Amino acid sequence: MERNQNFTKKPFIVDDDDRPTRIESVKFTVPSSKDIRDMAVVEVKRAKFLNGDTCYPNGLSDARMGPTHPSTACETCHMPSRFCPGHFGYIELAAPVYNVGYLSTILDVMKCICKVCFRILLVEDLRISYYDKMVSPHVEPWEKSELFKEIVKKCTTKAVMNCPRCRSVNGLDSIFLS
Ligand SMILES: [Zn+2]
Ligand SMILES: [Zn+2]
Repeated sequence: MERNQNFTKKPFIVDDDDRPTRIESVKFTVPSSKDIRDMAVVEVKRAKFLNGDTCYPNGLSDARMGPTHPSTACETCHMPSRFCPGHFGYIELAAPVYNVGYLSTILDVMKCICKVCFRILLVEDLRISYYDKMVSPHVEPWEKSELFKEIVKKCTTKAVMNCPRCRSVNGLDSIFLS
């Protein structure tokens, strides 16, 4: 299906019925495995690029993801390379892997969680006060980023040897229990 898309900074888009629609909110999340498969036009399963001028089907430059040469057309949108936006492919991994982009954040979050009761290592008043700021639409993203660093610092200080909720020694009781 060919469709012209108009890019605009205005908060209106045109839907399939050509009626103006107001965007009420935008949500940013990590796509699930299903989302990734649904978005993709091809499963990449061959670690090969080109065989002369032709692309290997299901290879790293499969023509369904976009043209590899200015004179050829995309096999998905049928546009030449200067108009084709490029299309996703996906690789089915043999085993689950950590996303390196999130590794340090995951580690920071885990440091802030009690290894016995799995609650945050903050007293309730402080937890609520941080929570309110973190979900507030009036607090800027950079301020939330600073708040996150502050929370990690508070949870990992030597003063928090015991979980303020279950009193377990942070990081130790779970090892002795297992
Ligand atoms: Zn295309
Ligand atoms: Zn605890």
